[in-house]
Amino acid sequence: MPTPPYLYDRHTWPQLRERAAEVPQPVVILTIGSVEQHGPHLPLDVDNLLIRRIVELAAEQIPDRVLLLPHLPYGFEEHHLDFPGTVSITNHTLENFVYELLRSVTHHGFRRLLIADGHGSNMPILNYAARRVTLDTPALCGAFIWAALIADVMREERESPFPGGVAHACELETSAYLHLDPGAVDMNLAVRDMHEYPSEFHWQDLSAGAPLQFMDFFSRISHTGITGDPTTASAEKGRRWVGLAVDRLVKLIVEFQGWADRPRVDHH
Ligand SMILES: [Zn+2]
Repeated sequence: MPTPPYLYDRHTWPQLRERAAEVPQPVVILTIGSVEQHGPHLPLDVDNLLIRRIVELAAEQIPDRVLLLPHLPYGFEEHHLDFPGTVSITNHTLENFVYELLRSVTHHGFRRLLIADGHGSNMPILNYAARRVTLDTPALCGAFIWAALIADVMREERESPFPGGVAHACELETSAYLHLDPGAVDMNLAVRDMHEYPSEFHWQDLSAGAPLQFMDFFSRISHTGITGDPTTASAEKGRRWVGLAVDRLVKLIVEFQGWADRPRVDHH
């Protein structure tokens, strides 16, 4: 099978020099996830497998418009460490690692960078790393989590209760995994385990953020490592939601590629 043209590190340096000179330039994408417990029914690689596959599927539709950096499989997971297997790096390490990595990519002339995330707790850190890249280099850099691409549709089509049914190892993640790799999911062990802080202002749900941001140790808010209702998951929902996320990601990449380089204005 030929090497896909969208893999950054399968180019030689003269080839990458040419790619950086293209007009418009390809968008460089860093995918990142986590090695993190996802309940008794899913493997630890959920956040890695889902984001990488979604970005690859988008890249296959627009192979000349993107360059995928090698996947970064570790994230900020301190709150999951009570469950065996989870691997964590601190927020400072993650932020600096991503910032330094992408800054070096801008050194070669790339000016449109995206961070594609599969793990919710990485997001505030990745947002900040992306902002630093935009402020410190000539490039534009943004970050997103894939679930946010389809939040509106999830609110309409979900069967689990809102808020809380779509949070972690939940209706969404289990459906997506059932679609992409059904043999690795044990639905006999999937149980409803809802995050239990009775609050008007705080909840965890991937389809809509709460006014109060708060994250406790997972072992205080979940008995199984799940928050949400994976018993409502299905491969068919996964097919639909992953497909829609891919379609919208293609649009996002094409749009972002065309964003103008606007001059700064010093008003002193
Ligand atoms: Zn996850």
